[in-house]
Amino acid sequence: MNHRLYQDVEPVPGSVGDVLRLIRGGESSSRSVLARTTGLAPSTVGLRVDALVDLGLVHEVGAEGSRGGRRARRLELDGTAGFVAAADLGANHTRIVLSDLAGRTLADSDDTRSSAPLPRDDGPAGAVAELWRRFETLAAECGLAVADFQGAAIGVPAPIAYPSGRIVTPSFEPTWHDVALGSLFASHTDAPVLVENDANLIALAERSDTEPPERSNLVAVKLGTRIGGGVIAGGRLHRGVGGAAGEVSHTSVDGTSVIGCTCGVPNCLESVASAGAIIARLRAAGHDVSTTADLLRLGAQGDAAVVEELRTAGALIGRVLAGIANFFNPREVVLAGAMSASPPLVAAIRSELYRMCLPLVADDLDVRASRAPRDAGVHGGVVLALDEVLAPTRIDELVRRATVSDDRTVRSA
Ligand SMILES: [Zn+2]
Repeated sequence: MNHRLYQDVEPVPGSVGDVLRLIRGGESSSRSVLARTTGLAPSTVGLRVDALVDLGLVHEVGAEGSRGGRRARRLELDGTAGFVAAADLGANHTRIVLSDLAGRTLADSDDTRSSAPLPRDDGPAGAVAELWRRFETLAAECGLAVADFQGAAIGVPAPIAYPSGRIVTPSFEPTWHDVALGSLFASHTDAPVLVENDANLIALAERSDTEPPERSNLVAVKLGTRIGGGVIAGGRLHRGVGGAAGEVSHTSVDGTSVIGCTCGVPNCLESVASAGAIIARLRAAGHDVSTTADLLRLGAQGDAAVVEELRTAGALIGRVLAGIANFFNPREVVLAGAMSASPPLVAAIRSELYRMCLPLVADDLDVRASRAPRDAGVHGGVVLALDEVLAPTRIDELVRRATVSDDRTVRSA
């Protein structure tokens, strides 16, 4: 149900939703500051804040540090007004995190050892029913009422068409091609459930936490069994026209494809330099390697053949990323996913990337590891879900609907 994401619609300045945006961003912490920031009359600000208090989204706490006179009460987003879920779907796991509306983690399926992959035998609808059951179970375990569920975002290792939210040629489960997973939640909940490419969610999680988000310009790369990429431009997830932006892994490179890829591009980066391809090449040469964990272990032990493969793959990945960096001039290239823990791979990516970058690009470029390589996917899911649930235009619509139903009640009385 990704059609028409509220968060992608520009807010109406000074609307109820826009006022929530200012409070949520910490830019306006009292009614008087809101009046100054928005240019609205204090009485209008009062009406906007009252509407948010009525929705249970904002509360007033303590006193702002004012100098004399009447003390201003501080306005805060009420994180306890509901919760959202984020799920990271992989071939071998399904991680679920529940978060309050302020982004504080309430529950993590990894803590309850309930991160098993979803069953695939009953098709996408069966998998969605099981995922919903796990949301409910995890919520119940930490004392949350399902009625307080506000929305979710699900990360999938495949391109996601935008704005339809349909999965495109997923290699982890080819039968899910063209499935709009989010729409299948309609039989379980009215709340928005978004589906997003997993690397896009990592990119969202890696947005700057020290600078204003709109200054964030980064490319995030997920290095796992396969390779994925996501782009943040001017603080926003850049999906391109149809959702394919960031698909760095299907660039043709020097080398020979050793695993199949549905993209149709000959010798694409993923089929030549992903962990899956490295493993296939080593196995063909008689090495006993079958998982990314094996690759990491043998690389750390200095196994000559494995280290050589990791270096070659790193150079190919670095070269593709250099082309992207020269074009896009990002502040950061963030490396995430299991293989970002491999020193020989990362060193080769870094050295080739800097070697092939324009000085003007390299001077401002930071190639760094993910701040939370294991958690970035679900953190990004929480960010996307909250940005949708609390999107200014969505809040404005909720207020409008509440007003209309109030009018009807008055008229029928
Ligand atoms: Zn490909």
